[in-house]
Amino acid sequence: VIIIDKAKSSEITQNASTSDHRPIAVNGDYQNNEDVPPLLPIDIEPETAAPSSFESIGHAGNINSNANSEPIFHVRSRTAAALAGVPQEKQAQYESLDYDVCENKLFQDEQLSHLRDRFSLRTHFIRWIIFILIGIITAVIACTIDIVIEALSELKYNFLKSSVDENVPVNESGGDLALPYLWWLLFSALPVAIGAGMVTYIEPITAGSGIPQVKSYLNGVKIPRIVRIKTLAVKAIGVITSVVGGLAGGKEGPMIHAGAVVAAGISQGKSTTFVKDFRIFKAFRDDHEKRDFVLGGAAAGVTAAFGAPIGGMLFSLEEAASFWNQNLIWRTLIASIISSFTLNIVLSAYHGVSALTFTGLFNLGKFDHPLTFEYFELPLFMLLGVMGGLLGAAWNSLNTHINGFRKRFVPWRAGKVCEAVLVAILGVTLACVMIYYINDCRPLGNDPTIHPVQLFCEDNEYNAVAALWFQTPEATVRALFHDPPGSHKILTLAVFTVVYYFLSCTTFGLNVSLGVFIPTALVGAAWGRLVAMLLFYIFPQAQFLHPGKYALIGAAANLGGVLRMTISLSVILMETTGVETSFFFPLIIALISAKWVGDYFNDGIYDTVIEVNHVPMLPWEPLPQYKGLTAEAILSKPVVCIKLRDRAHYIYKVLQKCNHNGFPVVDDVQDDRRSEGRVCGIILRSQLIVILLKSLYVENQRFWQPETTIQTFRDVYPRYPSISSVRPLDRKTNYTVDLSMFMNPSPVRVNTYDSVPRIFNIFRALGLRHLLVINSENRIEGIITRRDFIYK
Ligand code: ATP
Ligand code: MG
Repeated sequence: VIIIDKAKSSEITQNASTSDHRPIAVNGDYQNNEDVPPLLPIDIEPETAAPSSFESIGHAGNINSNANSEPIFHVRSRTAAALAGVPQEKQAQYESLDYDVCENKLFQDEQLSHLRDRFSLRTHFIRWIIFILIGIITAVIACTIDIVIEALSELKYNFLKSSVDENVPVNESGGDLALPYLWWLLFSALPVAIGAGMVTYIEPITAGSGIPQVKSYLNGVKIPRIVRIKTLAVKAIGVITSVVGGLAGGKEGPMIHAGAVVAAGISQGKSTTFVKDFRIFKAFRDDHEKRDFVLGGAAAGVTAAFGAPIGGMLFSLEEAASFWNQNLIWRTLIASIISSFTLNIVLSAYHGVSALTFTGLFNLGKFDHPLTFEYFELPLFMLLGVMGGLLGAAWNSLNTHINGFRKRFVPWRAGKVCEAVLVAILGVTLACVMIYYINDCRPLGNDPTIHPVQLFCEDNEYNAVAALWFQTPEATVRALFHDPPGSHKILTLAVFTVVYYFLSCTTFGLNVSLGVFIPTALVGAAWGRLVAMLLFYIFPQAQFLHPGKYALIGAAANLGGVLRMTISLSVILMETTGVETSFFFPLIIALISAKWVGDYFNDGIYDTVIEVNHVPMLPWEPLPQYKGLTAEAILSKPVVCIKLRDRAHYIYKVLQKCNHNGFPVVDDVQDDRRSEGRVCGIILRSQLIVILLKSLYVENQRFWQPETTIQTFRDVYPRYPSISSVRPLDRKTNYTVDLSMFMNPSPVRVNTYDSVPRIFNIFRALGLRHLLVINSENRIEGIITRRDFIYK
């Protein structure tokens, strides 16, 4: 088959000699009236397997410069530059979600039947109930993770403390740290090996924090296996083992992912993993509804991780959501508040206090005295922000390079597990070296340290270096915020900052379930406190240099530099430390300066992870290089179309030979040239497969029509069967499919001369998957998908 553009068709038709009997396709159709094309007029990409993991690894250097995808524009944004040469197979690895509701005839019938009206009071009510359930269940899961981590860490560090006390006899010089060191290695390496093993061998998608995955999902990209129960189980065990193992990470990211899985699971009323359909919530079985619940779940997850309901909701809006509206925000807030309330009740019961008086929700500890600031400190906060921006940008860049290195040199699964164990061993070793060589003894009683270790100190003293390491990173952040002035030496904090900075940078990207929030806050808190101590050393009169306050600002600045969020971070920090609203201003100054400085150099860490994984995320704004172009510049043609009444065999062959997910439905087709037909709708691959599987042919319409409803299609959601599950159709059997009741009769159409920024805005705002480009006669000219906005 020679595939040609219409413009060149006459030329080629003339050149086609009589000796060449191959059929000639013009604009994707076949002039010899073959009802099934021998080869479809498109680049048939090989069926690519779903990516095995959403690796938080890779770097821009890995992106091959592909001769075919030579950039056609000179001015490119950072993202576009990285995506310009993405190889075809990488481009094709992610499919999209259908956020645009297919309002076909079956859907309209459902709308008219008052019982199951999507907008009826009952459905509305059920939607609220689901959001409340999401809040409760996410909080219960988060509490369980929290309590298990707390209990196991307590056991671990108590044991290590007694081992140190036994092996380093009090008031004797020397002592042997070897045995405690070995125990420490064992208690770190073992849990980390279990966690990394589970993540690597059972569910690789659970690696990393989970926030980039949830963010991509909410943007409309289907990330395989991201919201399955198995994923939740591995994620939960993975995060417990990694935090207990002492890796430089936190549980927050995984909790957000857990919330998303809970939401996706509950709202569907069935579990595909356990092959159990509870026959409830059937109206919510589509991508659009599921997306809204997942947003609520993510917010409930953040809330449960920090005990910060407003921060949780804002986090979802600022970082995760790509689409929102007033009702959704309201429901998300309720899910967050319910989550926070449930967390309060469960933790109160666990700690044996009344739910009304329990104040444990200040996860990062409440400041005893109101934090105040002088106006002349504001420039100082801004400088700290700048420093956070620089350190954060450097962290992101270093982390991306380490992960690129990892991707190239540690591709095997066993190697990934070993690598995680090695990083755990490295952490313990560095901690031991610090404890051994830095002599920082502080008087006991002054400090809320959980596991004070005497080590080489005098009686009634404890080792301040060991105190930093002998607890979970979250507890250390708490300590840095609230320890009284003079709790550490300058040297201790300086070395700790450097060690933790590099350790956290090496850890993020390992094949373990861990978030980046707490280690980033920890590094920031350490250097923030260090700055206050240094300044106090230089200006001993300056009473305003409260180390806890500067630790908080440092944490905010470092978080801003790495994550590049502002509103939600400041609210989360306020809610978790109980500082007054007046302190919002210093926090925002530090965060915004950090964000601006960091943005100058690179993207936030979540966006970087998304980018290096080649996820086709649609940005908020159209890429700058598309300014001034029209749809013609990015559309794909010829378009594979299907006739309103088409042969089942043709549809079967089309589905077999090409892997597009949407096909324009056309009528008024001359000489079987479908790709010049007049547009009357669009049909999805998944719908066509259901039609073939259920034999919904015109010839036997009277058998299936009475019981075929929109539910017939929802029942197979979300794991649509593939075309290989359809029995091959005999081409001699002339079955016909009439798409009029199945297709979406009102697809969004644009004209060839419409500007790309404008059609981008339409595409993004409506959450479309396919956009049809037509001419003035409503005949199909081309098709645009999310990949065309990113890779062309
Ligand atoms: P998605 O991957 O977003 O779920 P899809 O699989 O239908 O949707 P893409 O994978 O983005 O589509 O398509 C790859 C390329 O093929 C894009 O450039 C797109 O414009 C083009 N394309 C999509 N559908 C058709 C079609 N029916 N006929 C011809 N080209 C198409
Ligand atoms: Mg595709």
